[in-house]
Amino acid sequence: MRLIFEKGAPGRRGVKLPEPVSDAAPNWPAELRRATPAPLPEVSEVEVVRHYTELSRRNFSVDTHFYPLGSCTMKYNPKACEAVASLPGFLDVHPLWPQLRHGGLLTQGALQLLWETERLLSEITGMAEFTLQPLAGAHGELTGAMIIAAYHRDRGTRKTHIIIPDSAHGTNPASARLAGYEVITVPSGPDGLVDFDRFRTAVNSETAAVMLTCPNTLGLFERRIREIADVVHAVDGLLYYDGANLNALLGRFKPADMGFDVCHVNLHKTFATPHGGGGPGAGPVGVVEKLRPYLPISRVCKRADGVFYLDYDAPKSIGYIAPFYGNFGVIVRAYAYLLMLGREGLLEASGMAVLNANYVQERLRSRFEAVTKGRCMHECVFSAKSFAAKGVHALDFAKALIDRGLHPPTVYFPLIVPEALMIEPTETETRETLDRFVDALLELADLADRDPEALHAAPRTTPVGRLDEVAAARHPDLRWRPPAISSHLGDSPVS
Ligand SMILES: *Cc1c(COP(=O)(O)O)cnc(C)c1O
Repeated sequence: MRLIFEKGAPGRRGVKLPEPVSDAAPNWPAELRRATPAPLPEVSEVEVVRHYTELSRRNFSVDTHFYPLGSCTMKYNPKACEAVASLPGFLDVHPLWPQLRHGGLLTQGALQLLWETERLLSEITGMAEFTLQPLAGAHGELTGAMIIAAYHRDRGTRKTHIIIPDSAHGTNPASARLAGYEVITVPSGPDGLVDFDRFRTAVNSETAAVMLTCPNTLGLFERRIREIADVVHAVDGLLYYDGANLNALLGRFKPADMGFDVCHVNLHKTFATPHGGGGPGAGPVGVVEKLRPYLPISRVCKRADGVFYLDYDAPKSIGYIAPFYGNFGVIVRAYAYLLMLGREGLLEASGMAVLNANYVQERLRSRFEAVTKGRCMHECVFSAKSFAAKGVHALDFAKALIDRGLHPPTVYFPLIVPEALMIEPTETETRETLDRFVDALLELADLADRDPEALHAAPRTTPVGRLDEVAAARHPDLRWRPPAISSHLGDSPVS
């Protein structure tokens, strides 16, 4: 596929602009003026439109393809939620509008939506109060870790570390470090769960918190969660719930009931708002009663007469963590999704997510080694290590799926599983889609036995095939240059 720079011809135009007046900028310093025109593509309007339309058609997205990325929960986003988020009252509201003006209540609807969403999340997780401000899951973790630090500072206790299992998402240790803590990693046992004895010996009076994902990143429920909570609470540590996998448990399990003190949820995973390309997301944080004073400002509050307002009067607050009030559009979609599904719908969503993952797990078990002999939760993890002897790796399966019109699952995560393939089908996919995906992987397993080279050549159907990953990392070629300049710089052409 050619780049837009390689299309068109000199003098071709999509729009005609007036000729510049020669002395339009008489005071510009000479060294800042171009001697020659910028090497921009010269293309007609149809060339531009067709170029970008073609690019957009090459996208993989939830609207066009099955998207089984484990740990990321690429959930379908109901179009009804998009419609709600597009209502002018939500779309056009500006965060700098005054809350109250001339007796009018300009932003009451928006504030009410925020207030109610916080209460819905409290109901679902059992937490006393939520803030919707954090802009992603990782940002929620950081907010939570800062709240934990503020709590311990306030009590005057010396706390130096946060304990995190080796199966955790990489953002957990990063957030703990950013909040000023050392990270102590505890290993997982052969069953994929936290090694309880190793965990217990790691806990001491300097333990600020334990961060857990439940179900964990292997898709397994942490069965000794109650005992873990007791051990950490005995030293006045706090238990942090990484709620990225809450969609496995919606309506069935409240983190607060199991002893968690702080949690984040990813609206862009569990509550169906769009995600990808790095944003926007939302990682609301909920806390139990004793941590309420440390929540970031501002807080959405409700007066006795029913009027909503933003409160900044919180002397123990960790302060500002985001501009305004979080990613409002994402929150609107999550609110619509929650009301649309209701209690019964959420139960059905988590039930179907777990059923679909187990269906995929059982069908693939014959050819790929599952990390558990038992049931999984919302995602299943396999190791492709039995193929590695033939030179076929998880990456080869991922690339070959692309040629079959299927988005690859997550590969090489969690880090504790060699040659990991991590599949999360979500609750919305049909059995036919799951079968098509499983059939493709089973066919590739046969192909790996017969003709490993065929997998190494994939993908063949994409504009860029298999990259030399070492070269791509060591000598990244990120920018097109006009042929004359690139030969001048001695660069090799873009391949
Ligand atoms: C996605 C994820 C995160 C981080 O969330 P972001 O919204 O991507 O910042 C943290 N933990 C787990 C287990 C996750 O899956």
